[in-house]
Amino acid sequence: MMSKTNSRVPECPKGVRHRWAPTQTGCRENPGVWSVGGTTLVFSHTCQRCGCRRVETRYGSQRNPGQRDGVEYIEPVRDEDAA
Ligand SMILES: [Zn+2]
Repeated sequence: MMSKTNSRVPECPKGVRHRWAPTQTGCRENPGVWSVGGTTLVFSHTCQRCGCRRVETRYGSQRNPGQRDGVEYIEPVRDEDAA
């Protein structure tokens, strides 16, 4: 499925706040959480209402100087948008 990535929070199409729940992938003990090396962890949540994903990267204590935690939003592209 196509998707687009935003650094700002997109609107939930239902006109309400997103209802974030851990994305049901990743390791079994920690759904929606990945270790990507060192102290860096990636947290993934999916909106239960619209299917938008929020992906947070937290670099932990071993971050490089100036490295900031990041968050991005991945919106599913719906059929009406792709037309
Ligand atoms: Zn939503």
